Amino acid sequence: MPEGKIIKALSGFYYVFHDNQIIQCRGRGVFRKNKITPLVGDEVVFQAENDQEGYILEVKERKNELQRPPIANVDQAILVFSAVEPDFSPALLDRFLVLVEFNHIEPLICITKMDLTTDEQEETILSYAKDYTKAGYEVILTSSETEAGIDRLNPHLENKISVFAGQSGVGKSSLLNVLRPDLELKTNDISSHLGRGKHTTRHVELIKIGNGLVADTPGFSSLEFTNIEAEDLTHCFPELVKAGEDCKFRGCLHLKEPKCAVKAKVDTGDIPPYRYEHYVDFLLEIKDRKPRY
Ligand code: GDP
Ligand code: ZN
Repeated sequence: MPEGKIIKALSGFYYVFHDNQIIQCRGRGVFRKNKITPLVGDEVVFQAENDQEGYILEVKERKNELQRPPIANVDQAILVFSAVEPDFSPALLDRFLVLVEFNHIEPLICITKMDLTTDEQEETILSYAKDYTKAGYEVILTSSETEAGIDRLNPHLENKISVFAGQSGVGKSSLLNVLRPDLELKTNDISSHLGRGKHTTRHVELIKIGNGLVADTPGFSSLEFTNIEAEDLTHCFPELVKAGEDCKFRGCLHLKEPKCAVKAKVDTGDIPPYRYEHYVDFLLEIKDRKPRY
């Protein structure tokens, strides 16, 4: 039986990409039995009725599943932040990074609007970029205006399902427009390109960019740490994980514990203080959520 990937779901139809063709499929009863609703991004086994139509027989096991937008098997989240307008916010970036790491999705940091920075602002951004690179992240500085950095971004999209994430106005649609100019997306609303109004039923579609697929709707619209526990949080800061191997206590939360290697590295400046501060802020936020007895 042929296999393919669902790239769009609409009105009970699933559009399955297979062998460079799109087959319009319906689900068969199997899903109702298993309580599985096929999602965009799913790898499926289908039976073709003809060149254009078929039936989905099986949904393969998912590597992950996002709720908003509903999409499965996301490989990469492109965290889009503008250098200015709005100003770059490391606190917000760290929040996105935690959510992405927690979902086992590879993050990529893309800082846009580099054409708008003063020399001083550019220096600040470069210094942040250095910190995040040192922490183990890929950082790409771009401008959709001059197309600077786009050639560095392109190879990262190959053979992956990516979602863009980031505040409104940071330049997500502008980036997609540079990557796929033929789509002529309206800026400020990357989900409007099919002409559907903002209030019609939302659906996601994967857009082909080179050999990669990118969701047309931004991910991580909720920034709550709802399912994240304190212990999970320590795993979402790669440089803290690494330094934490030398903490005296197993399960050290790097707060008030003695002989904490993380705090030592913050003191020497090896770990940027703002990264540690955000970690502590998030930890308190998570602890406060718990009912107190
Ligand atoms: P979105 O809400 O994240 O999709 O942001 P948009 O792509 O709609 O961009 C918001 C505004 O910023 C628009 O007016 C864009 O023209 C502008 N913009 C986006 N990227 C850049 C950039 O790299 N350079 C400049 N100068 N303006 C940009
Ligand atoms: Zn520690």
